[in-house]
This record gives sequence, C-alpha cells and structure tokens, in this order.
Amino acid sequence: MTGSIVADTRGREAGAIVLRGLRKAYGPVPVVRDATLTVPAGQRVALLGANGSGKTTLLKVLATLLRPSGGTARIGGYDVVQEADAVRRLVGFLGHQTYLYDQLTPVENLTFYGRLYRVPDLRARVAATLEAVGLSPRRTALTGQLSHGQRQRLALARAILHDPAVLILDEPDAGLDLAGLEVLARVLCNGGRTVLFTTHNPDRALDLAQRSVVLIGGRLEDQERSPDATLAAYREHLGVAR
Ligand code: ADP
Repeated sequence: MTGSIVADTRGREAGAIVLRGLRKAYGPVPVVRDATLTVPAGQRVALLGANGSGKTTLLKVLATLLRPSGGTARIGGYDVVQEADAVRRLVGFLGHQTYLYDQLTPVENLTFYGRLYRVPDLRARVAATLEAVGLSPRRTALTGQLSHGQRQRLALARAILHDPAVLILDEPDAGLDLAGLEVLARVLCNGGRTVLFTTHNPDRALDLAQRSVVLIGGRLEDQERSPDATLAAYREHLGVAR
C-alpha cells in the first residue's frame, strides 16, 4: 500500500506517533525530560524549539538511532526500542547527515538503500522518486559533485524511497531553493503521511504543518492551540518579536 494510513495487524493506526514520558540524557545531562505527545496518523506536526533544546535528539530516538533513557515511544503501535525493525520499515528519516555516499551517483545511492529495504520494482521506484524530487537530470552525476540543495533533495528521496507511512525530518528545508521548497511541500502534504519535522522558519511551520509543538526545557508544550498561537508563544519564549 502506498504511503497511506493502514491498520496494522494489531489494529493500531500504522502512522500514529505516541510518546509517553519520553526521556533522553547524555550521561548525566538530561536533554529530553518528559516528552508526551500523540500524533494521529496523517497529521503533519512542526517541532519547534531553540538551538540545543533537544529536537534532533528527540527525532533520533523516534528514528531508532538513539536509545531513550526512559519513557516510551511508539510508531504505528511498535515500540522504538523493542520493535526497532518494524519502526524502521514504517519511518523515513532525514537528518543532518545525508547518509549518502559521495562516490556513488543518485541512482546508485537509492538503489543501494532500496535493496536494504527490499523495495519492490526498485528500478522504476528509483526513477520515480528522483523525478519527484526534481533530480532526474542529475541522476548519473557523482553525489559528491551535487550542490548542497541537490544533496538535500537526494536525502529526501532516500527518506521516501520505501514509501513510509511516517516521515521524521530534521530541518528538511535547510539549503533548499524555491523549487526545492515546492518539492518538499508536495512530499509532505501528498500521500496522507504522518510527518514530524523541525524547522527554524516559523512561516514554513505555518505553511506545512497542521499543528506545532514546542520543546522547552525538555518538555513538549502542546496546548492544542492553533499553529499561529503556538508560534506566537514560541516567539515570546525566545524573546523574538514578530
Ligand atoms: P536541537 O536539535 O534542538 O538544536 P540537540 O538535540 O542537537 O538540539 O541537542 C540538545 C542538547 O544535547 C545540546 O545541549 C547538545 O549539546 C547536547 N547533545 C547533542 N548530542 C550530544 C551527544 N552526542 N553527546 C552529548 N551531548 C549531546
């Protein structure tokens, strides 16, 4: 089934993200203290917060790249620690590292990842995904010779290649030109996926997300306010005028 909201075998929504008292410390230093959040399948949520507030840490825990120190996180009903393989199949992750090989072409990079994820009909899927992010003309260039924005597009292509129900994206708008931002908007808003993404651009949060949550002091401030109201509260927290 393609990027859609399906019930998994345990009757839970495949795309839902549920955090309960999630904690993550680096050694003795707590970063995420008590993150609680329920994102229904298909909802797009912007995760806001000052530099160093723990956004990347939280997203890496959800992407199974970091082990939480306490609490629980479930995606599609699967626990990110106990059922990490199932979570990885459901999730497409874009982080600050692109996880791309410079000495391979975009086609080769995607083919490599597609085999890892056992993507069916891989040749056609790679071609269609490169087309979706506007990279078809550079498909046989060396990835190391792509511009920063083009590599960001390729990293996005890698994240969506296995058609995940959930996208977890850390600053996906970084380095994108206007055409790249349109690509990003299409990827985020089409296909009914659940999306949790960070951005430092409040207008982008308003444009792309149906809901915004703010990480403050290791806790998620989520008063179910409108995105506008949440952003106003965030600006106030940062001491930044509109
Ligand atoms: P954000 O993405 O909101 O900018 P991060 O999650 O990257 O925040 O970082 C949150 C805090 O955790 C920062 O104080 C950062 O220095 C610290 N931190 C991040 N990664 C590590 C690590 N691997 N070891 C120790 N401290 C870390």
